[in-house]
This record gives sequence, C-alpha cells and structure tokens, in this order.
Amino acid sequence: MAECLFCAIVAGEIPATTVLETDRILAFRDINPQAPTHVLVIPKEHYPDVSALAAADGGLLGEVITGVHRVAEMQGVSQDGYRVVFNTGAHAGQTVPHVHGHLLGGRSLTWPPG
Ligand code: 5GP
Ligand code: ZN
Repeated sequence: MAECLFCAIVAGEIPATTVLETDRILAFRDINPQAPTHVLVIPKEHYPDVSALAAADGGLLGEVITGVHRVAEMQGVSQDGYRVVFNTGAHAGQTVPHVHGHLLGGRSLTWPPG
C-alpha cells in the first residue's frame, strides 16, 4: 500500500470515482464535495504541493490545469465559471501532501473564501 493517499488512488489500491485520466494526470470526485461539481485533479507522480510541481515540471502543472478545464467542460460548468484551488500548507488547510487542484463549480462561489 502506498504511504500517500493519492498515490494509493493512482495505484488503484483505494477506489475513487475517476472522471478523466491521461498518461500523466488523474481527475476524480472529492469524497466530501463542497459544490455540485468538486473534482480533484492530480499529477500521477508525487509532488507535495503546487510550488514543488511548478519548480520540478512546469509542463506537468500545465497538464493539470488543462485537465481541470477539460473536466469543467465535461461537467458543464466551464461557461458559468468555476474555481481552481491549490491549498498549500497548514494555514490553507492542505490535508493531503500530494498536489491536487480542487475544481469547484455548479454554484455561485463566495469571495473572499473563509
Ligand atoms: P486539501 O484539504 O488537502 O486541500 O484537500 C484534500 C481533499 O481530499 C479534501 O477535499 C477531501 O475531501 C479529499 N479526500 C480526502 N480523502 C479522500 C479519499 O479517500 N477519496 C477522495 N476521493 N477524496 C478524498
Ligand atoms: Zn502521492
């Protein structure tokens, strides 16, 4: 069993509801959705947070963002708009140390966030 929760999902050791998969990224539904559309988009390779991913492989970060938009289109939220969130570190509430973009859509989202 992979030590990292999202590496375990990539490995198929923990089930998830996949909505998009390419050779380098995976998108799956958040287990505790905060909006009608709440999908997590991750690189299959492990990076602890978005800055580490950006520093190591900006092209892969671009694939993650492209994946977010593809999922938004597939879920029908790209026209009305959506939010992409990369919680980074404790104050932002990052709980899983494998970089993940939250795609949130399907309702009006307030700003500033809590
Ligand atoms: P963070 O708090 O690190 O920004 O986001 C972690 C997200 O992962 C949370 O929104 C949480 O609901 C989600 N999550 C935690 N465990 C699981 C799981 O086992 N499966 C799925 N699909 N999502 C999970
Ligand atoms: Zn991982």
